[in-house]
Amino acid sequence: MEQRPDIMSMMPEELAEFVRSIGEKPYRAEQLFTWMAKGAEIDEMTNLPKSFRDKLKECAEYRLPKIEEKFVSKIDGTVKYLFSLVDGECVESVLMKYEHGNTLCVSSQAGCAMGCKFCASTLNGRVRNLTPSEILGQAAKAAHDSGERVDGIVMMGIGEPLDNYDNVIRFLKLVSHEKGMGIGLRHISLSTCGLVPKIYNLAEEGLPVTLSVSLHAWDDRIRDELMPVNRKYKIAQLLEACRKYFEKTGRRVSFEYTLIAGKNDSKEDAVQLAKVIRQGMRAPTHVNLILLNEVKETGLKTPARQRAREFAAELDKNGVNATVRRKLGSDIDASCGQLRLKKLAERENPAEQN
Ligand code: SAH
Repeated sequence: MEQRPDIMSMMPEELAEFVRSIGEKPYRAEQLFTWMAKGAEIDEMTNLPKSFRDKLKECAEYRLPKIEEKFVSKIDGTVKYLFSLVDGECVESVLMKYEHGNTLCVSSQAGCAMGCKFCASTLNGRVRNLTPSEILGQAAKAAHDSGERVDGIVMMGIGEPLDNYDNVIRFLKLVSHEKGMGIGLRHISLSTCGLVPKIYNLAEEGLPVTLSVSLHAWDDRIRDELMPVNRKYKIAQLLEACRKYFEKTGRRVSFEYTLIAGKNDSKEDAVQLAKVIRQGMRAPTHVNLILLNEVKETGLKTPARQRAREFAAELDKNGVNATVRRKLGSDIDASCGQLRLKKLAERENPAEQN
């Protein structure tokens, strides 16, 4: 079957070329680009002539993610979406409301190949990469559906963004384009488990996003066990790449550290972690402490919240800036990966739904 051009993955210049190729005036491309960034359906694009809209339906591929399920937190207004894509694959996005604005957490792959021991997204492996339009579509659709502006993005949903490098870079260019959603690159965080060569590549892109690195351990032995990627790229190599990222971009790198009871949450762990980060980075950093969200299949347990506060204090005392991440949407289970898994299980065993 012939593939129709995926117009939402196109930059305005490319879109102008496409629009010209179907016999329309190139200035229509900008209007179309802006509409797509608003998550509008073709029939909602009212300043485009009907004949052009009909041509688009015929010649272009434009399918926004479909809202399969939606949950709204009664506690803090967090909205969690389970979106289905053209081939029926599902991904999750979470809209979080902060005083300084709304942040959307997006997915970059259907599933994940990285195999981190505590994570729900990787349990069934990676099915496929998302296209730029599928990543952008989550943001556009969430904004359209909620009527809220998306002020910032975190790439902390399902998938490893640097394992889908080209599509993610294109997404970053699309979502930050002033004629599109216009989300400042400085308001975008890209989270990675540590694909070292790709961190060097990212530093060269000239895209000043915040790099957020999932560390979760200070010692290679523990990190090898929790995160298989560490068997390939060791902590020292990873920190070296982060330091280079900072030198190249001037952007402070932040680390995520998920606290897992009895694995990485002792006072000694905090002291060692601070030491490893200070020595490895020699640059300003920030540590986000996350309490493990328990995933039944993994058997790993979360420590008490008090432990996280003590861990943060210990890091601070040892010269490393740290905060405990607030848990939003606790009544809707807003952490990523679990809804998708549930949906997959339901499809395999429809009888068990009731
Ligand atoms: N692949 C990217 C994005 C993953 S999700 C990465 O590895 O950074 C964003 C963060 O949530 C990562 O730090 C990830 O390690 C963490 N995470 C995954 N599962 C978790 C869980 N069950 N509880 C707490 N944090 C988790």
